[in-house]
Amino acid sequence: MGALYFHIPFCKRLCGYCDFVHSVKSRFMPQTVVAMHEELDRESGFLRDRKIRTIYFGGGTPSLLHPSEIECFISHSSELFDCSEVEEITVEVNPDDITEQYAEALKNSSVNRVSMGVQSFDDKCLQFMGRRHSANDALRAIERLRGVGIENISIDIIFGVSGFGGQSLERTLQQAVETGVEHISAYHLTIEPQTRFGRMLQRGEIEQVSESVSEQEFDAVHQVFTAAGYEHYEVSNFAKEGYRSRHNSSYWTGAEYLGVGPGAHSYNGTVRRWCEQDVEQYVERVEYGSETLTALDALNEYVMVSLRRVEGIDLQYIAQRWGDSWAERIASRAERFVACGWLCRSGSRVAVPVDKFLISDSVIAELFE
Ligand code: SF4
Repeated sequence: MGALYFHIPFCKRLCGYCDFVHSVKSRFMPQTVVAMHEELDRESGFLRDRKIRTIYFGGGTPSLLHPSEIECFISHSSELFDCSEVEEITVEVNPDDITEQYAEALKNSSVNRVSMGVQSFDDKCLQFMGRRHSANDALRAIERLRGVGIENISIDIIFGVSGFGGQSLERTLQQAVETGVEHISAYHLTIEPQTRFGRMLQRGEIEQVSESVSEQEFDAVHQVFTAAGYEHYEVSNFAKEGYRSRHNSSYWTGAEYLGVGPGAHSYNGTVRRWCEQDVEQYVERVEYGSETLTALDALNEYVMVSLRRVEGIDLQYIAQRWGDSWAERIASRAERFVACGWLCRSGSRVAVPVDKFLISDSVIAELFE
């Protein structure tokens, strides 16, 4: 089954670290929404799989759209695809958009999962990152969503922020657990050169945390969340039982997906495609870049995404899909990592142990074909 992704690229203000596709030119929002409906109509044939399992509204800030506008995309999708068995419809929200009316309208829409960009429960850290909400705003927003009966809430937090480890991070982790949300994504801050933080780093105004601090903080995140009953099921993701993100899981298991909107990516099992990022250009004319994946690309991709998950790779599956010789080559390369504890093997499965997730990228690179 496939997935649909709608990218709403607008933000009221830009966070210091953000390199997602976004724009503060909200005057273009109405035209962008129209262009996105047109793109959905025009490009629905890109997916061979006509059955949709998950729909995701990401950004940017999708909560700048009213729930009725979100619902329009959902009903439009149902006209083009078989959405009768959709399991999960997620919308990303910013805490300060969640008024009581907004929460109520979301509850009355088809959305059944809300993902909130909390990032920290320390106001100083939030200010440093340039977020437009406070810790209390986030707590109030979660309460409001709960109050109207939204039962599947995910929050994002960021660690590895220089100057905001120690007690600041501890408070954030504890508070995240106390909210009782079903899912938590915890990302290490990465500073890209084209962001405000990137420029500050270049001028020596901020620092990156050292590798050992990264490891300590990753370990703290892992310890606190797993002790609270969350499963650490992917490098950056923790879930209570039954609440793994189905949408992201479909990316990780190679499902087809159609992305709509500026900067959105799509994949149909053979072709990967990405859309023009600039909003002004998008409303005039939608242009795509694309690449056709070879069998080897697909194998590398399978290895890369699978080793970031607790289930790891399945050598039997590799043998069936790509042939015995590839499975044997990967198995023999994996041996030395198994010997030093960076990989573990159980039957045909090879996985990165959860406490080694942080270094999974270097293991993955070694297993690449
Ligand atoms: S982090 Fe989110 S809210 Fe902040 S600029 Fe990026 S997309 Fe917008």
